[in-house]
Amino acid sequence: MKLKLIEKKQETNDVFSFIFQPPNHVSWQAGQYVFYKLPHDNPDDRGDTRIFTISSPPYQERIMITTRFFFQENSSFKKALFSKEVGDSIESLRIQGHFTVEEPNKKLVFIAGGIGITPFHSILLELENRNKIKDIILIFSNRNEESVVFKETMDRLEKKFQGIRIKYIYSPQRCNKELIKESVPDIYERIFYLSGPIRMVKSVEEALEELNVNRENIRKDYFPRTGEK
Ligand SMILES: Cc1cc2nc3c(=O)[nH]c(=O)nc-3n(C[C@H](O)[C@H](O)[C@H](O)COP(=O)(O)OP(=O)(O)OC[C@H]3O[C@@H](n4cnc5c(N)ncnc54)[C@H](O)[C@@H]3O)c2cc1C
Repeated sequence: MKLKLIEKKQETNDVFSFIFQPPNHVSWQAGQYVFYKLPHDNPDDRGDTRIFTISSPPYQERIMITTRFFFQENSSFKKALFSKEVGDSIESLRIQGHFTVEEPNKKLVFIAGGIGITPFHSILLELENRNKIKDIILIFSNRNEESVVFKETMDRLEKKFQGIRIKYIYSPQRCNKELIKESVPDIYERIFYLSGPIRMVKSVEEALEELNVNRENIRKDYFPRTGEK
């Protein structure tokens, strides 16, 4: 399916969102991701396809990609994406993923590392639209305050809903056992959703297991770098 770029938005110093209009109605669940194909000249060995979470909520009927650019060291794919102008198109191959919230009435904890906030942005806006933000703790770790993506949305949601609490942490602080215990008092009553770089997700998962959180209550979304396992 060809998606037409309708807006390119700078979120932070090095993070940009690309908002696309699908040619017809597309349905998906908040938290899912898309495979994209972007043929370009001289692709590097990471190739011309990528996976990105849909960072926009389904009710908006537009598909948004949000990603970080490493300007000197961008992959050829990211260079090609960055050079897209409003009116240009990108090919999306398929939508999939199970990192979705099926039971919004349960007590939830979202733990995001950096750009790993993208599925939570989609999920939170969708829940807001359905008035289903009941009891959510978001722990959002970043390098520093300037690199926090979607801060305005998070501030707005925190003001609007009593049912959401947000704890920001910055390097070198880590989301470890102590921090989880301190931020989540009713830890055994909650479902945990973890999203971010592989190393961060694995270390938070280990911390939760050491705290004896039931594995069934831990859902994960890894953001590997291309080629990383
Ligand atoms: C389910 C899923 C959802 C995802 N959702 C998102 C999302 O919403 N937003 C997002 O930004 N990413 C997301 N990703 C990750 C995304 O697919 C890319 O892998 C990631 O953005 C890196 O892009 P890139 O390879 O173009 O490298 P770049 O971002 O251009 O490069 C990043 C830096 O890492 C280095 N680097 C990257 N890959 C390698 C490698 N294989 N070996 C050595 N060095 C490397 C580069 O030199 C550069 O310094 C998701 C991945 C998955 C699997």
